[in-house]
Amino acid sequence: MSVIPLIPIFSKFNKLFFDNSLLINQKPIVTLRWSDNRLKTTAGIYKRKRVSGVLTSEIVLSKPILSNLPTNEIHSTLCHEMIHAWVDRVLKVNEIHGPNFQRKMKEINSLQDNFKISIKHSYPIVRNDFKYKGVCQNCGEIFSYRKRMKNLACKKCCLKFFDGVWNKKCLIVFDL
Ligand SMILES: [Zn+2]
Ligand SMILES: [Zn+2]
Repeated sequence: MSVIPLIPIFSKFNKLFFDNSLLINQKPIVTLRWSDNRLKTTAGIYKRKRVSGVLTSEIVLSKPILSNLPTNEIHSTLCHEMIHAWVDRVLKVNEIHGPNFQRKMKEINSLQDNFKISIKHSYPIVRNDFKYKGVCQNCGEIFSYRKRMKNLACKKCCLKFFDGVWNKKCLIVFDL
């Protein structure tokens, strides 16, 4: 899978939408990179951390999700994360998708028609969160969970047969 370089798009958007504020001494104030093949839960991330007193931040775009999508989706995701960087590093405001973010998002959306930024990414995100299957010992129904859990009982059976009280007869067993 090949991916397009991010720096040229970043530079272009920085000029067009952010008044060049995301560059200091010709260098982006955030590092940009494509993820490896494991980032499958989100199309893009903005992260900040403090390394021995120095604030650094980075934008990571998901290679497995975005490399199969049209370029405008890459542009929209990169621009979304750039707004996070701008709110955090230029405005120095602590918000996620708050009023500053939304104002900038609307402004950029109204300035061009090539892509649309949204708060929620509108394309399907491959999720593998509910990968554990458990079976109710009473009714046999199979449920999906994010993690294995101990002493979990089937809610349907507890309600139906035990007045809503936990009963070990309808324990969910995970080793399928
Ligand atoms: Zn966001
Ligand atoms: Zn059950």
